[in-house]
Amino acid sequence: MNVADSERAATRLRHSGFAISEDSSSADVVIFNTCAVRAKAQQKVFNRIGVTRHSAQNGHQLIGVMGCVAQLEGEGIFAQAPSVRMIIGTQATDRLPSIIEKALTRDERILDVAQRREGEVWDVSFSERHSPHVAFVPIIEGCNKFCSYCIVPYSRGRERSRAASEIIAEINGLMRHGTKEVHLIGQNVNSYRPHSIAGLEQVSGATPFSRLLRAVAATKMPRIKFTTSFPRDFHSDIVAAMDENGSLCEWVHLPVQSGSDRMLRLMRRGYSSVDYLKRVDYIKRSTRNISLTSDVIVGFPGETQQDFEDTMRLVRLCRYDGLYIFKYSERKGTPAATMSDTVSESDKTARFLSLENIQEKIQEEIYTSYVGRELSVLVEGHSSKSMESMTGHSTCHKVVNFLGKDDLLGQIVSVRITEAKSHSLWGELV
Ligand code: SAH
Ligand code: SF4
Repeated sequence: MNVADSERAATRLRHSGFAISEDSSSADVVIFNTCAVRAKAQQKVFNRIGVTRHSAQNGHQLIGVMGCVAQLEGEGIFAQAPSVRMIIGTQATDRLPSIIEKALTRDERILDVAQRREGEVWDVSFSERHSPHVAFVPIIEGCNKFCSYCIVPYSRGRERSRAASEIIAEINGLMRHGTKEVHLIGQNVNSYRPHSIAGLEQVSGATPFSRLLRAVAATKMPRIKFTTSFPRDFHSDIVAAMDENGSLCEWVHLPVQSGSDRMLRLMRRGYSSVDYLKRVDYIKRSTRNISLTSDVIVGFPGETQQDFEDTMRLVRLCRYDGLYIFKYSERKGTPAATMSDTVSESDKTARFLSLENIQEKIQEEIYTSYVGRELSVLVEGHSSKSMESMTGHSTCHKVVNFLGKDDLLGQIVSVRITEAKSHSLWGELV
């Protein structure tokens, strides 16, 4: 999400005549794009602002903060970091050029945490993309779910879905530039609900999201991935669309957060572990071998050892291909921040490590099962381990490394897997 926001900001700035610098110390304007999901990310911003200010070659450098921290802290940032002169909220990205102009010409501090304006465009220039081969395409912004621990609905506002015709036009444009893979992104992609469903074919009983998936598959973009899926809104029509369209890659990220029904209720996730497992069953019963990944929070207020054991049991049952484990981080202003009976830091760490241990073993087994198989890999760059090796992702979203040369960049190749590590695969070009 944040990479996509930075691409969108860079597009608006370049269109208004700004040049994007690779070196923050010599830039006239420095904008920090920020994340507030966990407290640590938020603290990092203020440290970084201090470091940047000290290394600036230009004493008059204009510093701005954009994104979730800007939206949530607002004017408070001016007090915490006096060198900051612009605060650009999550829905003000498109107004960045005029905010900078104002800050420069009026020599005053600017705060813009207002909502998006009608008719603002989501499009991003090809040249501002983080990769020429893989592109992020936002389809929905914001969140209406209000899980009790989460700051996102406050920092990003209500859900806004992008018109299907715009999404399809952007993907067609990307295809003309040679992009091989798109990721449809949003806090909860499968809550996609545009004002108008023009451009989406009627499919009886199907949600707008699965109809969008079918429409995107019809563009002939070679590989289509989507993330994140919200369990409550995950219905079998999504798997049906994947079964019928090979370009919809076999990977679903479906964060469970906890295996305990008591915790899920306190987290206000809107599903029980049985509801979640029903969704997993749709995925496992697919005609394709779909990879499943998830997020878990350990140490939510009041989480007992029994609750945690329920999570471990669910993780063993789901056999995730990948799992992001987070220690609960209290976010001011969320309902969970007022809950007592918090779990000690040492218990959080112990639970984190136990779960990590279980996941590592499961992952090792899953990754080892790929040895001898051929995977379709989009070659995205050099492997971090060696300049003679190339790296990319498989359609099941595993990192795959193999011996190869630069001329393969951007190509989709077949790789036979010869070795499994716990987070990546090694193989040879077929
Ligand atoms: N919309 C997605 C997740 C978006 S946030 C969903 O609901 O599944 C990404 C992840 O950050 C979440 O899945 C959750 O595991 C984690 N997260 C969010 N708030 C958190 C908090 N206060 N403490 C720890 N982890 C948190
Ligand atoms: Fe946060 Fe819940 Fe929305 Fe995900 S669904 S972004 S966890 S409030």
